[in-house]
Amino acid sequence: MTVIKQEDLIQSVADALQYISYYHPKDFIDAVHQAYEREESKAAKDAMAQILINSRMCAMGKRPICQDTGIVTVFLNIGMDVKFEGDMSVEDMCNEGVRRAYTHPDNVLRASVLADPDGKRANTKDNTPAIIHMKLVPGSTVDVHVAAKGGGSEAKSKFAMLNPSDSIVDWVLEQVPKMGAGWCPPGMLGIGIGGTAEKAMQIAKEALLEPVNIQELQARGAENRAEELRLELYEKVNKLGIGAQGLGGLTTVLDIKVADYPTHAANKPVAIIPNCAATRHTHFELDGSGPASLKAPKLEDWPEISWEVGDSVRRVNLDTVTPEDVKDWQPGETVLLSGKMLTGRDAAHKRMVDMISKGEELPVDLKGRFIYYVGPVDPVREEVVGPAGPTTATRMDKFTRTVLEETGLLGMIGKAERGPIAIDAIRDNEAVYLMAVGGAAYLVSQAIKGAKVVGFDDLGMEAIYEFEVEDMPVTVAVDSKGESVHQTGPQEWFARINATEV
Ligand code: SF4
Repeated sequence: MTVIKQEDLIQSVADALQYISYYHPKDFIDAVHQAYEREESKAAKDAMAQILINSRMCAMGKRPICQDTGIVTVFLNIGMDVKFEGDMSVEDMCNEGVRRAYTHPDNVLRASVLADPDGKRANTKDNTPAIIHMKLVPGSTVDVHVAAKGGGSEAKSKFAMLNPSDSIVDWVLEQVPKMGAGWCPPGMLGIGIGGTAEKAMQIAKEALLEPVNIQELQARGAENRAEELRLELYEKVNKLGIGAQGLGGLTTVLDIKVADYPTHAANKPVAIIPNCAATRHTHFELDGSGPASLKAPKLEDWPEISWEVGDSVRRVNLDTVTPEDVKDWQPGETVLLSGKMLTGRDAAHKRMVDMISKGEELPVDLKGRFIYYVGPVDPVREEVVGPAGPTTATRMDKFTRTVLEETGLLGMIGKAERGPIAIDAIRDNEAVYLMAVGGAAYLVSQAIKGAKVVGFDDLGMEAIYEFEVEDMPVTVAVDSKGESVHQTGPQEWFARINATEV
């Protein structure tokens, strides 16, 4: 019988979560680097350059890869010859590890978990509880996988109960374009087939714990149906031309994982769960000899990429920019922003729109200003703000017309595409939508030189801040005439990829 001290499991979970907050898995770095090397779309290549530079900086600075430090999932295989010493349940030990990791003073992580999800949506303040899956297995060790999943990619999960004769490939190829770019590609898709509804979702999530190794499979060939699907879907999803950050390009997925399980004769359940540019997971085993020790990767594991914006880049002073200036900005153009911008995301937008409808005055004047959709990580040491990358803009779509028309806001900055109602509102108001790279949060935060809360203080990371930025790189994603690069880019690359194949 192996005795595992509860403190060893708690500390190991905490250490693993700190580790994955700033170290990408090496297989993921290698895969993004290979995709970067072969990418022909300039916009997608630039986005991957920023993801790789950000990743290296996070490893060096030991700060989060993304401002969304995720909701924690833990998979435990507990040996039947194991006894835990202490009076906490395994779930409580895991949650204590989460609490310890997310409030670590040297690298505070963002608490994103809300209790009462359809009610008060109150932040639990320490990112607990985790989602915990346990299996009792033969043996005398505890095998643990820890992952932290961003809300943007989790939001794009899909599930269907197909008919037994339906094609999995057709269904996946129908879903992926609908997922847009809010899951921050390039990344992986975990596909779970079979079992019951909940089993398909669980095995899809578990499949994402596997390393990126599609090239090995391509070299040796498929040995079963799941592997055939991996190969077929990897090729066909990339041929959709969606590309990094949905900007159009050769690589949308770095790998496809397929897990299957026996199912009922009447069913074919299938789930897709995407893993984003902030792929975060690791594994450890406890054998009673103390907490797990996770080896730090070597800095040489990261490629040294440089990213130059070029001399012709448009530089914009946010303190003096006018509606006339904005009309000149071209879709796909890189812009360096300097000056003062406001921030606000879901909760702030909802409150602003409620206040507008009641005729109440907003805490800040938005006229002629830019708002950045972000919920930053709290700063540590000398930082003015922690990692502060963009959040998914589509969630703000339903507020966009009211905010533009009632406040005179000039522009928005976020990640991924805008939906039709937001694009129409942008065009009608001759405003603009700019995108920053999702998954490059620490890099973006280096451009932020000052930060103060100017409204809705009670909303924590969702409060309205005023940021002072210097040369913050963004791309014009919807121009004042309503042209969206998330429509034109993938269309262009779909046509190019499929034309060269004929
Ligand atoms: S990379 Fe994108 S989807 Fe992933 S956690 Fe960050 S913002 Fe969310």
